[in-house]
Amino acid sequence: MNTTENQYAMLSNGMKIPMIGLGTWRIGDDEALGAIKTALEIGYRHIDTASIYGNEQGVGAGIRGSGVSRKDIFLTSKVWNDDQGYDSTLKAFNASLERLGTDYLDLYLIHWPTRRNKDTWRAMETLYREGKVKAIGVSNFQTHHLEDLLAACEIKPMVNQVEFHPYLVQSTLFEFCRRNHIQIEAWSPLMQGKMVDVSELKDLGEKYNCSVAQIILRWDIQMGVVTIPKSIRRDRMKENVDIFDFTISEEDMALITALDRGKRFGPNPDNFGF
Ligand code: NDP
Repeated sequence: MNTTENQYAMLSNGMKIPMIGLGTWRIGDDEALGAIKTALEIGYRHIDTASIYGNEQGVGAGIRGSGVSRKDIFLTSKVWNDDQGYDSTLKAFNASLERLGTDYLDLYLIHWPTRRNKDTWRAMETLYREGKVKAIGVSNFQTHHLEDLLAACEIKPMVNQVEFHPYLVQSTLFEFCRRNHIQIEAWSPLMQGKMVDVSELKDLGEKYNCSVAQIILRWDIQMGVVTIPKSIRRDRMKENVDIFDFTISEEDMALITALDRGKRFGPNPDNFGF
């Protein structure tokens, strides 16, 4: 990985988060060991998992087997909906630590908004105060979920991990998070692989002599959005972090942002049934 610029964002508590991480949804527990070792070898230092992905054991084994020091890796996991609530979140957190074989997390997120968010958030605050997690945040929170939480919390969420790509820019949420110093993290940044069908992005790939994936991920970085593309393939993992030696012009940045059509590849947090 070229280490010249913009590799980290600063969270509201002063903690650094690598701009690019490896997403691990749909990487099985058995595949995770190899995938994580490969990613760390390539230069990734940020791994995104969740208890619901069922791969925390493999992720932990990959980290330990890589030879990279734990303290040099930014590791995120998430509390699943069934575990929300105060005591159950504390328990779920400890179970994640155990599966991952680590004694702290860099970031712990509420995976989806539910009616129990406020109790869950109190547990997140406890974990943060106890130093078991270095940063806390949410995922899939719309502006109204954040407003609700901000009115009740003692510690503000530092991150909101949401679906974000050229077809789903969510500009109101984006602005709200920026104003409140909540770092946006993009999930499904590559539209779950469907980005290759977008002709405007293909044209830009030709113009900048790079792949469509690289165009999107570079756009994320220039937007100030932390991004976590998933791949199980070494060549693609490499391609996805090789984005620090070119700059997309302001005009082309605007062109990509204007592709927004409110299209989701994942569930809408307002109708997810919690
Ligand atoms: P992505 O948008 O990252 O796309 C992944 C797909 O794109 C895979 O099929 C992958 O295939 C393919 N791909 C990766 N790189 C390239 C490339 N350079 N060229 C062509 N194809 C490529 O989808 P995800 O949904 O996985 O999102 C990323 C991560 O975000 C997840 O893994 C997870 O960690 C997180 N996430 C969080 C959610 C939440 O609710 N908080 C919800 C969904 C995801 P292959 O592996 O074969 O290379």
